[in-house]
Amino acid sequence: MSSDPGNDGFATRAIHVGQEPDPATGAVSVPVYATSTYAQRAVGEPYGAYDYARGGNPTRAALETCLASLEGARHGLAFASGMAAITTLCSLLAPGDHVVLGDDVYGGTYRLFARVLAPLGITFSLADLTDAGATAAALRPETRLVWLETPTNPLLKCADIAALADVAHAHDAALAVDSTFATPYLQRPLLLGADFVVHSTTKYLAGHSDTIGGALCLSDDARHARLAYHRNAVGNVPGPFDCFLTLRGVRTLPVRMRAHGESALEIARFLSSHPAVERVHYPGLPDDPHHAVARKNQASGGAGSPDRAGFGGMVSFVVRGGEAAARRAAESTRLFLLAESLGGVESLIEHPGAMTHASLAGSGVTLDPALLRVSVGLEDVADLIADLDTALREKPVI
Ligand code: PLP
Repeated sequence: MSSDPGNDGFATRAIHVGQEPDPATGAVSVPVYATSTYAQRAVGEPYGAYDYARGGNPTRAALETCLASLEGARHGLAFASGMAAITTLCSLLAPGDHVVLGDDVYGGTYRLFARVLAPLGITFSLADLTDAGATAAALRPETRLVWLETPTNPLLKCADIAALADVAHAHDAALAVDSTFATPYLQRPLLLGADFVVHSTTKYLAGHSDTIGGALCLSDDARHARLAYHRNAVGNVPGPFDCFLTLRGVRTLPVRMRAHGESALEIARFLSSHPAVERVHYPGLPDDPHHAVARKNQASGGAGSPDRAGFGGMVSFVVRGGEAAARRAAESTRLFLLAESLGGVESLIEHPGAMTHASLAGSGVTLDPALLRVSVGLEDVADLIADLDTALREKPVI
């Protein structure tokens, strides 16, 4: 099996790394080690690597080993949620430190910086990280971290990871990339120079809308030791069954991501020519302003060829007729379930301004009130297109 992260062994690694048959029973699927503690032979002499399950658990370790391999990282750390991963990464910061935050990040990430970290003395500025000049202008002598989401949620903007790593490092800051939308199947930020990769594994990595989780991958040993220490000190660890579900999802990540991407591209094309749609955001469309950067991020650190791998399953679009028309469409679909979250096998639709990104209120960042976001699932794409078409043609009740 290849251990070269740029090699096609990705699908093989998703199924085998960290997942050798259980030595005790030969089980081919990693067992759920539902134990809170581990017996010791003698005082201070555990049987293996574990003494207490907040510190470590074999199901969690299997997930971490696999995720690290997929990201081309030396280390993986799993968390109870994506926000727990982000919070733990930010525990490396100290009062007086400054963070440059993309101006189009997940609302919960913004809320963490604005409502939890800022009162603790960790300041931040919002910047359009797709604009190198705006990014450089936002950096200060006390900037320690640049926080990038690419593609962003909900506008699917893509920033050049390698270029931003250079900008951040030139200012002695680290670059963290929330790569939840892309997954390691499409892009591997560490191979492009980023210092940390963050995932809400709740989404594509687990892939079935049945568990909440998060992950951090990195290659720096000292930072990993601090983060593992902080995670144990804070205690925001995932349970073994959640790790099992996530790992089970990871095993099918390549086939799911390809299928999500194929259907999303068809849906983005369909929406682009729909009379009720004003604008479509999807980096897989050749005329999308972020297409070239998405290709660059993916080609140099991902599955190799975006043409084969696709551009992910998230599409957002602005409905003609303003907020009322958008809300009406979101409430009229039958297959696309009106719900927050993304990345599962079932298609979802949501109104970011009122749902996932409501916590951006007061940030100065405004989303078009007629913006809708869809997570394209694995249903038959013709059924999904028919569902959206019917919903977009829905007329107001008078
Ligand atoms: N990052 C992104 C891009 C997200 O979309 C989300 C959740 O929607 C998170 C982080 C937070 O993840 P979680 O809900 O698993 O805490």
